[in-house]
Amino acid sequence: MRASRFFISTLKEAPADAEIVSHQLMMRAGMIKRLGSGIYTYMPIGLRVIRKVEAIVREEMNRSAAVELLMPLIQPAELWQETGRWDKMGAELLRIKDRHGREFAFQPTAEEVITDVVRSEIKSYRQLPLNFYHIQTKFRDERRPRFGLMRGREFTMKDAYSFDRDLAGMQASYQIMYDAYTRIFNRFGLKFRAVAADNGAIGGSGSHEFHVIAHTGEDALVYCPTSDYAANMEAAEALPATAERAAAAQALSKVATPDATKCELVAAQLGLPLSQTVKTLALTVETEKDGKTAKQYFMLLLRGDHELNEIKVAKVAGLADHRFSTEEEIAEVYGCVPGYLGPIGTKAPVTVVADRTVANMADFICGANDAGYHYTGANWGRDVAEPAIVADLRNVVEGDASPDGQGVLTIERGIEVGHVFQLGTAYSAAMKATFLDENGKPAPLQMGCYGIGITRILGAAIEQNFDDKGIIWPTSLAPFELVLCPMGMDRSEAVKQATEQLYAEAVAAGIDVIVDDRGLRPGQMFADWELIGVPHRVVIGDRGLKEGNLEYQGRRDAEATAVPVAEILGFVQ
Ligand code: ATP
Ligand code: MG
Ligand code: MG
Ligand code: MG
Repeated sequence: MRASRFFISTLKEAPADAEIVSHQLMMRAGMIKRLGSGIYTYMPIGLRVIRKVEAIVREEMNRSAAVELLMPLIQPAELWQETGRWDKMGAELLRIKDRHGREFAFQPTAEEVITDVVRSEIKSYRQLPLNFYHIQTKFRDERRPRFGLMRGREFTMKDAYSFDRDLAGMQASYQIMYDAYTRIFNRFGLKFRAVAADNGAIGGSGSHEFHVIAHTGEDALVYCPTSDYAANMEAAEALPATAERAAAAQALSKVATPDATKCELVAAQLGLPLSQTVKTLALTVETEKDGKTAKQYFMLLLRGDHELNEIKVAKVAGLADHRFSTEEEIAEVYGCVPGYLGPIGTKAPVTVVADRTVANMADFICGANDAGYHYTGANWGRDVAEPAIVADLRNVVEGDASPDGQGVLTIERGIEVGHVFQLGTAYSAAMKATFLDENGKPAPLQMGCYGIGITRILGAAIEQNFDDKGIIWPTSLAPFELVLCPMGMDRSEAVKQATEQLYAEAVAAGIDVIVDDRGLRPGQMFADWELIGVPHRVVIGDRGLKEGNLEYQGRRDAEATAVPVAEILGFVQ
């Protein structure tokens, strides 16, 4: 590739709406271009990375005997009605009508379609096991699209669906996918962790999420460094609270520190004991800042049963006039997002929390959430909260003994990049997808489903690999592995020749190489490639050539090294 014939468009500054580093750097490196909320054009450099991600995923899927097909973007409503998801999916499902008024969904996932394929194709146990996958565009009308490709509305996913004759078969297929995912994320060169997850609405039995570790991650992961225990926070919190933990929380709720007092005040204001479990609440809190009293309204929506407790709402000044029945209504009125807590009206995001006690909520209301976001409104949260108290008010905290008795728990943050599910017969039963077993009897197919967020990987990889100059791609994902930077190619015949020769050799060696023949000043040229994050750079100049050398610099190296021309490609591979 020659840079003069390629398309490179870098920016000095990131647009103001880019909140996290991966979004900022992707915009600055010209990888993506925003078309609308959560909708992006993948620009040439971005697309090259996407293709590298896809190629690794495809290779490992094929290696695990999964079979590629391609299912349509547009899916008839009838299929979604068969499983009940046409109603269950709510606003996240983009619904469209054709000219005859028939309803369709733009696929957010493809369980229904693949089950429809299989129910007409699979007749006998002899055709099993089978695992179909595709790499396809998805649309999910996310309530809060953000962070660029990390939470887009239109994005690319690899989704796979396994079909087996019995439970043991399904579990074997699941394990094969789990192992394939482990190989895939290792090949990406990213630090990741697989954690046990709740199956949520899909139902079924086992499920794991694969997370790229990054402090900007939306999910809290709980793991034990001395054993195999690892779960996402939801799954960890679903464990019964230990007597020890309950006693600690009880003791802490009485500690007379400013924050504990705040928690107690909030609880008193709600007229609830600190230990009571609640689902949904709204309240007003008066705060003092710079001698002025300010009123803040907080809405706390918790997972599970979203029925609003009207009595509690009525108790809260300023919200008494409102009655809500759905999450959407609440969101409309206050611009806050279900599952999130924030000063109403500021749309400040914080982490999603599972069912919590008043003590936990008070902790959240104090702004002492573990999400690491900053409120945009006046806040009396994060900066004043005592970390020890905050931690101890959570259900699962660092230092807790593990569920398996093998050590203590550590908490870190992650970005969900993959998810494997044991679905069982939830879809096959609803859609009557059966096969004939050895006795000639019809039985429902045992299913598993397996997703990887192809485009989210780009964001996740950058969150883990960057510096003040830009992105640092792992070689396996880099848009180009090597960039050749000739100094004065138009003036010096020697430089021109050496560059062309090296370029040809690199191409012949199968290296993904680009030569920067744009004629830019060295500073500009280097800044571009450092921003774009190409892992290897070779500078070709008259001075070095006179001594038979080129200058090699790895993207993480502090300085360039003089390397004899004949040895240079060895540095790159
Ligand atoms: P999240 O919890 O982040 O909303 P999810 O659990 O809804 O994700 P899945 O249904 O498990 O997502 O989809 C499989 C994978 O698709 C996820 O693990 C993630 O990597 C990716 N993904 C899901 N939603 C998005 C999105 N809005 N933008 C980009 N990738 C996404
Ligand atoms: Mg989601
Ligand atoms: Mg999830
Ligand atoms: Mg998931």
